[in-house]
Amino acid sequence: MITENVHLHEIDKFGSMAEHWWDRQGEFKSLHDINPLRIKFIQSYADVSGKRIVDVGCGGGILTEGLAKLGAEVLGIDMSEDLIDIAYLHGLESGVNAHYEKISAEALAERQPGSFDHVACMEMLEHVPNPGSIIAACAKLVKPGGMVFFSTLNRKLKAYFLGIVGAEYLLRMLPKGTHNFKTFIKPSELSQSARAAGLELQGIVGIEYNPLNKRFSLGKDIDVNYIAAFKRAE
Ligand code: SAH
Repeated sequence: MITENVHLHEIDKFGSMAEHWWDRQGEFKSLHDINPLRIKFIQSYADVSGKRIVDVGCGGGILTEGLAKLGAEVLGIDMSEDLIDIAYLHGLESGVNAHYEKISAEALAERQPGSFDHVACMEMLEHVPNPGSIIAACAKLVKPGGMVFFSTLNRKLKAYFLGIVGAEYLLRMLPKGTHNFKTFIKPSELSQSARAAGLELQGIVGIEYNPLNKRFSLGKDIDVNYIAAFKRAE
């Protein structure tokens, strides 16, 4: 079983903030703010109602619950025990059809390949040693014809200034040290790894932030944060 594709300091970093995960005005406010947008993006490619979906690197379950509320049967997986606990407890309170497990994407893909209608993996690839291995595992988890959604940060100077200097230091939207520029992923690199794993790019859009009205929106600018849809060949 492959489990070594984990940076323990990343797991500890996110796990140590687990209690604040569902504070809409707290450290993870931006994940709450972008959630309706990513759900809208997912829905533009896939009908989620009644579908089995796995949310890889689910954290405290923000996207997991959002998809479950739309009628999907969602499994959230993460390598942080603390976050899995928070996600599970919050799910009980919300009464949604979401399940959680501490397991790596690679191990789950080995255990149950091709068993999900769709796969989501949001804001996670930039936190692992080998994103290509996660991408390949997501491709293995999805059924032929199913969709796989990734979001991450682009390795462009603009992302350094807006995503790290701006978001972490000036606007304090994210805790300092959340991101490391070197781990950001260019859309071309994401597409190449996905293609090598049998996934075809369907569309890609930017998750843009307007500091004037403090709102996020989906748009053409993929230089900072972006979300992409891939389809596994039939
Ligand atoms: N996807 C969630 C959380 C993003 S934060 C959302 O967008 O709402 C990044 C998450 O990735 C954290 O929960 C962290 O614990 C998780 N993570 C980091 N490395 C991981 C790994 N190797 N396997 C699974 N999850 C991982």
